[in-house]
Amino acid sequence: MSFEKLIEPLDLGFTILKNRVLMGSMHTGLEEEKDGFDKLAAFYAERAKGGVGLIVTGGIAPDKFGRLTPFASSMTKQSHVLQHKKITEAVHAEDGKICMQILHAGRYSYHPFSVAPSSLKAPISRFKPWKMPSWFINRTISHFVRAARLAQDAGYDGVEIMGSEGYLINQFLVTKTNQRNDQWGGSFENRIKFPLEIVSRVREAVGKNFIVIYRLSMLDLIHEGQSWEEIESLALQIEKAGATMINTGIGWHEARIPTIAQMVPRAGFAWVTKRLMGKLKIPLITTNRINTPELAEKVLTDGCADMVSMARPFLADPHFVLKAIQNRSEEINTCIACNQACLDNIFNQKVASCLVNPFACKETTWKLQWATVIKKVAVVGAGPAGLAAAVTAAQRGHEVSLFEMDEAIGGQLNMAKVVSGKEEFYETLRYYQVMIAKYKISLLLNTEFTSVDAERFDEIIFATGVIPRPLILEGSHLPHVLSYPDVLRKKLPTGKKIVVIGAGGIAIDTAMFLLKGSNPESIKDFNHRWHIDQHYANRGGIDESAGKESPLKDITLLQRRVGKPGAALGKTTAWIHREELKKSGVKFLDGLQYVRITSEGIEVKRNEEVQLIEADHIVVCAGQESRNSLFEQLKNEGHSMHLIGGAKEAGELDAKRAIEEGTRVGMKI
Ligand code: NAP
Ligand code: SF4
Repeated sequence: MSFEKLIEPLDLGFTILKNRVLMGSMHTGLEEEKDGFDKLAAFYAERAKGGVGLIVTGGIAPDKFGRLTPFASSMTKQSHVLQHKKITEAVHAEDGKICMQILHAGRYSYHPFSVAPSSLKAPISRFKPWKMPSWFINRTISHFVRAARLAQDAGYDGVEIMGSEGYLINQFLVTKTNQRNDQWGGSFENRIKFPLEIVSRVREAVGKNFIVIYRLSMLDLIHEGQSWEEIESLALQIEKAGATMINTGIGWHEARIPTIAQMVPRAGFAWVTKRLMGKLKIPLITTNRINTPELAEKVLTDGCADMVSMARPFLADPHFVLKAIQNRSEEINTCIACNQACLDNIFNQKVASCLVNPFACKETTWKLQWATVIKKVAVVGAGPAGLAAAVTAAQRGHEVSLFEMDEAIGGQLNMAKVVSGKEEFYETLRYYQVMIAKYKISLLLNTEFTSVDAERFDEIIFATGVIPRPLILEGSHLPHVLSYPDVLRKKLPTGKKIVVIGAGGIAIDTAMFLLKGSNPESIKDFNHRWHIDQHYANRGGIDESAGKESPLKDITLLQRRVGKPGAALGKTTAWIHREELKKSGVKFLDGLQYVRITSEGIEVKRNEEVQLIEADHIVVCAGQESRNSLFEQLKNEGHSMHLIGGAKEAGELDAKRAIEEGTRVGMKI
């Protein structure tokens, strides 16, 4: 496929962007690291080298009150300019362009000095903000202007003013968070003064040859959010105030509606930007869940926007654009929207990386180097750990043979990919398939690795994965007791009433599969289920009347521990899974003891009372055990052995750990 629209230059009058791809703003955590700016410079330079049209940095606060966390980055003085110069020089050396995002967190600031238009605590922060006096508002505007001027001194090509996602500017726009009765609150005209002043004064300060992107909240997804008329009117006035482009913001962070997670349909919010197309003269940028060049091209040809913003896809593959331009899009390592190594890391105060590309944000330390001695390497098991190990070793020049007992590569991913909302795993498998061919890995499917094979290799990497933990309980041999591979892999038929033993990630996946099968959800159905109103009949784009479901199955998840289902899942997605279970009428019982399984169902003991939970089928999702039987024997025979992934440690295994361990061993041998 050719990407005519995507690679078309965008003329901004005073400068030309080489294509229609914007790398959207992402906080990486490097901002606050030791030598963080050297690392950030390498991180952004790699993306510039990969051909992206324009980069926007992670959010930088205009003053200390606007920092998201107490030690987050701000742009307030000359010493900051010197640090940022490292970034701009590195990006420009790769012929890239970069804007600095100015983000004031307002009441989302996670420290005691947070400020907001009104002193109303955000549901996602434990700090009640201070109400900004009028003089303080004027001072904050001048801090935005100062940050823009300093960004210009640092060599940035422009700034993005963050006006969405529920941060300070957004907080001024809606009466839910702005309950002032002075010139900054009350009427719509008063509420929009804050962003308009910022944009016009920034433009005045930086002159006309400097990019000013305004990120406009086009769908708040909160009660008492903006109406569409207000959004459109604000956009027109932001244009008049001097913005070069308008980027799209979807949903406040406090909204309980997924906007970027895996279950959001691809390009699921491009329709929002499309509503504004044709109303303004300046270019519009659309965003959220766009992760392939084919999709980005379609979004542009469908007239949804003038430019496409992708953020996480550039963690997954820094050379996304270059590969598209060179007609190698099948080589793109696609972002699967899992959030597991990017956003979840940030929430855990760690530096971001990427589940499918652990090199992300390690550009100065993790370098693929050609092997000094070319070895014959056997990788046993073609699940995520084995695939990562095989490809990394082969990229370094080793001769790699990949053994797999199954008829296809993928291991556990083959079960995840069939769950509705998890189709992105097909992309990961496609990527590995292409890499296997490209790096001439000898793939041996339906093949068991034996001790005889071992003699031919210098290094043996065992990535033989896991097997489901058997349930030790009276009645577990009965025919209506199934394992999760019976459901997800063999697709055995199940009755209406189902009990799932276990309430971890796989139990939730299995429940979702039983309810929804493998069909990806349409944007219309997704919007209906999550109360999103494409017609904006209510403020904030929320439709309370939508979202009622009549589940096809009656499912109950069981857990012995006391606690929520999916407690070990990442912070950014666990709540969505729980919400989905609730919406689908899935019941959950915790704090149980299992007594026995009978032909009618399962007897459990709770609060000293035994009760029968009736079930047509019982599906066991009780975790996994390592499968590595030959490993010790071969090690004792003196082979150079490496054990990775689930074969090494089954507990808390996920694709993130598997791929990272595989990559590490592939780099080491
Ligand atoms: P898990 O998260 O460890 O959950 C295992 C479940 O089985 C628990 O609910 C546990 O609860 C129960 N269990 C454990 N031993 C049992 C036994 N002997 N008898 C009966 N029940 C038992 O494991 P998983 O669901 O198999 O998932 C494997 C890994 O993949 C996890 O790390 C998970 O986070 C990851 N994963 C992630 C996602 C995602 O979307 N991010 C999706 C799927 C899987 P009790 O012991 O309290 O009864
Ligand atoms: Fe995408 Fe997951 Fe990587 Fe984040 S960790 S960039 S969501 S693939």
